[in-house]
Amino acid sequence: MVDFIERNVRDVSEKITRIAKDCGRDRNEIKLMGVSKFHPLEMMTEASRWVDLLGENRVQEASEKRAGWSVGNKTPWHLIGHLQKNKARKALETFDLIESVDSFELAQTLDRILEETGRESFPVFIEVNMSGETSKNGVAPESVPGFFENVLAQCPRLSVEGLMTLGPLTEDERSIRAAFSGLRDICVAMRAEFGLPLPELSMGMSGDFAIAIQEGSTIVRIGTAIFGPRNL
Ligand SMILES: *Cc1c(COP(=O)(O)O)cnc(C)c1O
Repeated sequence: MVDFIERNVRDVSEKITRIAKDCGRDRNEIKLMGVSKFHPLEMMTEASRWVDLLGENRVQEASEKRAGWSVGNKTPWHLIGHLQKNKARKALETFDLIESVDSFELAQTLDRILEETGRESFPVFIEVNMSGETSKNGVAPESVPGFFENVLAQCPRLSVEGLMTLGPLTEDERSIRAAFSGLRDICVAMRAEFGLPLPELSMGMSGDFAIAIQEGSTIVRIGTAIFGPRNL
């Protein structure tokens, strides 16, 4: 009943391989995330056999699913949706990495909870709002250097490992490409300025992952193309 998931992951994965080859990138540096929001645990479990990572948007939904998750299943879970400060503690218990750190207040809250709970380090990405769309969360591109400076100085338990963005809501390839290449440029600049490895660039979804890979994505977040339409 969930056979289609293996087939869909294989199709997406083959596309990734072809796109990587065409633009001269190493396929092994691109991870495939299955975005399982609104889909049942059974589908996540099946997908976990074929994808590198799983992504969920909402802490409540993910935490309910976690309760039924097999402890032996080590597929990492990333939080990719906006995190409210009052859910920060639950998010740290539920996820292996938070991609959607989008305010300094949230970073401070996460760091304080890690300190309280005796955890030395937790991996995060900074979400950047490349399109400037007000419906989107994320740090403004021009504020990213200051944001890094503050997090590095004041949130020692957060290990910043990458940047994340959502492509603009448009069919216009040029603006999508500009958003993704812009995030890559910011990442390169932050590596140089702060001497961080910052290996991950999380960008690209079902509709725009080809462009994202061409612009340097290391994690593509794929929902619909793997699981089909969401039952909202
Ligand atoms: C839902 C979602 C995705 C996956 O979107 P699809 O278009 O279904 O592939 C990726 N990233 C984020 C942040 C999302 O909310």
